[in-house]
Amino acid sequence: MRASKYHINTLKEAPSDAEVVSHKLMTRAGMIRKLAGGIYTYMPLGLRVIRKVEAIVREEMQAAGAIELLMPVVQPAELWMESGRWEQYGPELLRIKDRHQRDFVLQPTSEEVITDIARAEIHSWRQLPLNFFHIQTKFRDERRPRFGVMRGREFTMKDAYSFDRDEAGAQASYDIMYQAYMRIFQRLGLEFRAVAADTGSIGGSRSHEFQVIADTGEDLLVYNPESDYAANIELAEAVALASERPPARDALERAPTPGAAKCEDVAALLKLPLTRTVKSIVLATDGDEGAQIWLLMLRGDHELNEIKAGKVPGLDQGFRFATEAEIIEHFGCEPGYLGPIGTARPVRVIADRTVANMSDFVCGANARDFHYTGVNWGRDVPEPERVADLRNVVAGDPAPDGKGTLAIQRGIEVGHVFFLGTKYSKALNATFLDENGKPAVMQMGCYGIGITRIVGAAIEQNHDERGIVWPMALAPFQVVVCPVGWGKSEAVRSAATELYEALLAQGVEAVLDDRDLRPGSMFADWELVGVPLRVTIGDRGLKDGVVEVQARRDAEAAKVPAGEALGEVLARMR
Ligand code: ATP
Ligand code: MG
Ligand code: MG
Ligand code: MG
Repeated sequence: MRASKYHINTLKEAPSDAEVVSHKLMTRAGMIRKLAGGIYTYMPLGLRVIRKVEAIVREEMQAAGAIELLMPVVQPAELWMESGRWEQYGPELLRIKDRHQRDFVLQPTSEEVITDIARAEIHSWRQLPLNFFHIQTKFRDERRPRFGVMRGREFTMKDAYSFDRDEAGAQASYDIMYQAYMRIFQRLGLEFRAVAADTGSIGGSRSHEFQVIADTGEDLLVYNPESDYAANIELAEAVALASERPPARDALERAPTPGAAKCEDVAALLKLPLTRTVKSIVLATDGDEGAQIWLLMLRGDHELNEIKAGKVPGLDQGFRFATEAEIIEHFGCEPGYLGPIGTARPVRVIADRTVANMSDFVCGANARDFHYTGVNWGRDVPEPERVADLRNVVAGDPAPDGKGTLAIQRGIEVGHVFFLGTKYSKALNATFLDENGKPAVMQMGCYGIGITRIVGAAIEQNHDERGIVWPMALAPFQVVVCPVGWGKSEAVRSAATELYEALLAQGVEAVLDDRDLRPGSMFADWELVGVPLRVTIGDRGLKDGVVEVQARRDAEAAKVPAGEALGEVLARMR
């Protein structure tokens, strides 16, 4: 690629809404341009990186036996009604109508459509196992799109879906995907960790997230450096709370509540702007109904007014009145501690004190007192105090597996594998004839990778004060040839062009900067863009028969005989 014929448009200033370095650098390097909140154009340089991620993911998926197809972005509501998710999914699901007022969705994920395909296409046990995947645009109407492409509303995901004859087969398919994900993130050159995770709105019973380690990550991971134990803290917390092991439970109960507030009236509470992701809320009131606790459990990101209006799906166990005795009876636990309830997320009691008795919650005859917490740990919570708090609380306690002590770090969820069982196949009646000719329900798994999120996550891990530092596997260009004095010197022009063409002939993704810029701004551009290797060719060096080769991470350039530049670059790419 010749830079003069390409589109390079770097910016000095980062957009004012950019909170994290990857968002700033992607915009400044000209990789993305914002169209609307959480909706971006992938500019030529950005698209090159996205394609790199896609290619690695596609290769490893195919190597693991998955078969590529492409499902539509627009999906009819009927299928979502069949699975129950039309009701359950909540406001992240973007619903649209066609000219006949028929309901459709912009897909946030494709379990329904793939299960519809499976029930039509798979008839016999002989066709199983099967794993279909696609790399497709997703839309999720995130409550708070931010961090550029890391939490977009429109983004690209690789999603795969496995179908098996029985549970053992489905477990095997899950393990194959887990291993494929390990290879994918290794090849991408990222520091990552696989952690046990909650299943969220996708559902299912077993799940792991693949987390890129970064201080700006929205997730908190708890892990045991001396064993394999690693979990998203949401899950770790739940397990600890549910377990009969008091130390872990006590430790977590001592975890400070990030927000405890009081208000005079529940009505005022409902008007409170919720800037945080609230996972669970307990309201206590001594209102007309007598001493009661309102127990409210949320699974995801919901606004209080949506809950109040009954618009949050799956709240059948949620927004309701319960007496303290009822709670104790229902949850089988002492006051002050609630374990997992049904399929909903576990909650912990929330107050900044133990609910020893109702008077702890009830303040005065007409007062309303509420406490909230369960802020999705780490998300929207000022850092680093929160991590430090949590580290103080958890570190030093035994881990759930009884070995070593726990440590905490932050991560960016870039991949997620779920064991689904028959959740969707049962709902959509996806059956096949087994070896005995009897109909059986297919066992499923689903496996997502955030293609565009990976690009942001990679930058969070690989950057310095001058810009992005791409791992070779992701770089938009692998080598940039920078001629100093392009317009003036024939010798420079021919040496630079010769090397550039030799690199192309070797299959190297090289760019020749023939824009005739001053060295300072030329170097600044490529350092911002993050090209891993640079060869600088100038008259002064050529006089001594040398050119300069510099890796993006190197402090200084190495002088290399001009005739050996190609070999040097190729050696460094290995
Ligand atoms: P999060 O917890 O960050 O909201 P999720 O658990 O809702 O993610 P999944 O349903 O597991 O996401 O989707 C699979 C993958 O898609 C995620 O692991 C992530 O890499 C990616 N992804 C999810 N939401 C977004 C988004 N808003 N923008 C970019 N990528 C996303
Ligand atoms: Mg989400
Ligand atoms: Mg998640
Ligand atoms: Mg997830």
